[in-house]
Amino acid sequence: MSGNQRIDGKRLWDSLMAMAEIGATPKGGVKRLTLTEVDKAGRDRFRGWCEALGLTVRVDAIGNMFARREGRDPTRKPVLFGSHLDSQPSGGKFDGALGVIAGLEVMRTLHEMEIATEAPLELVNWTDEEGSRFGHSLMGSGVWAGVYAQDKAYGLTDVEGVTVSDALDAIGYKGAHPAAPFPADAYFELHIEQGPILEREGRTIGVVTGAQAQVWWDAVITGQDSHAGTTPPSTRKDALVAASRVIALVDARMREAGEDGRGTVGFLQVIPNSRNVIPGEVRFSVEFRHPDTARIEHLAETFPAEAAAVVAETGCRLNLQELFRFAAQPFDPDCVALVQQAADRLGHASRRIVSGAGHDAVYVARRVPTAMIFTPCKDGLSHNEAESIEPEEAEAGCQVLFEAVLARANRRL
Ligand SMILES: [Zn+2]
Repeated sequence: MSGNQRIDGKRLWDSLMAMAEIGATPKGGVKRLTLTEVDKAGRDRFRGWCEALGLTVRVDAIGNMFARREGRDPTRKPVLFGSHLDSQPSGGKFDGALGVIAGLEVMRTLHEMEIATEAPLELVNWTDEEGSRFGHSLMGSGVWAGVYAQDKAYGLTDVEGVTVSDALDAIGYKGAHPAAPFPADAYFELHIEQGPILEREGRTIGVVTGAQAQVWWDAVITGQDSHAGTTPPSTRKDALVAASRVIALVDARMREAGEDGRGTVGFLQVIPNSRNVIPGEVRFSVEFRHPDTARIEHLAETFPAEAAAVVAETGCRLNLQELFRFAAQPFDPDCVALVQQAADRLGHASRRIVSGAGHDAVYVARRVPTAMIFTPCKDGLSHNEAESIEPEEAEAGCQVLFEAVLARANRRL
């Protein structure tokens, strides 16, 4: 790689800020919910930027956008890269947008420097990564990879009863191309870490080796609501006391797994939630994550009975419904090595890291050799309007993306 093939950090940052104007919130964040008019505005701007470079933009049946730049060799499979432009209701400027806009900057740099690649390149904007409108995250990449049936996705509704199918039609992004995997040579995704590790260790680049295994449940504990002042201990069935024991159990099981363990109860509803009534029902979420699938499988099998036992001690009942279980998804060693080599060549402090969050790349990896690049974010904060990164970090991540994509697209077959 010649040393003067440099992406333009200022142009990258300016475009990130221009995209962040679409759905900008008063607190400095972004609200660009999938398949809304705001999302359409973001998509339209992205499409315009791509077409200005002579890229051909095609849209598939679930709204995924692919902006293609031809290679020298028309027989070669394309190298894909990208991320998502949708956001959480109170999201930040960089979650998803960084990967798409950095991909655009890669295309702009190639265009400006008149660099041809052997393989074609395709920059992707996946539909509905966040899942906050229709309740199903990684929808576009999931349908594309064949993890979810398209008809099932089409039928999902938002709180107003609008279906995914109608929402796609309404913004004009239900494309003619089938939402199905096509032969591709590789997929690279640059994303903010959404965690504190890179920042804490003062590293610029995370070389992502894969994603964690996960198991998620919905829990309901049923006790008996009764008067706080008149019900003696012997007759209480306090569902919140039971829930607190389950929460302590989640924390204990997580800590047994060391620094790689993750266990969280992040959602809790107390019913009736009144200060002088003993809670009769508590609804909450439980999830565990770990890089080792066997550990998660073991938790998935043993946790329900353990939790039921601690709940039974309080006289309450536990209903635990498993929502899903994911095996860990390792990324492709050759693609991961290209990211590592680019980071090393550029002199960036880096470390190998396992993704703690779900990403489109995790589903794409089931079909296409895949790797991800992480860049730090301030205080590890994401899914938050205060989400923040430094322009130099965005530039560094984009340059690594540029070099990994070029190396892959020009490799000898
Ligand atoms: Zn994201």
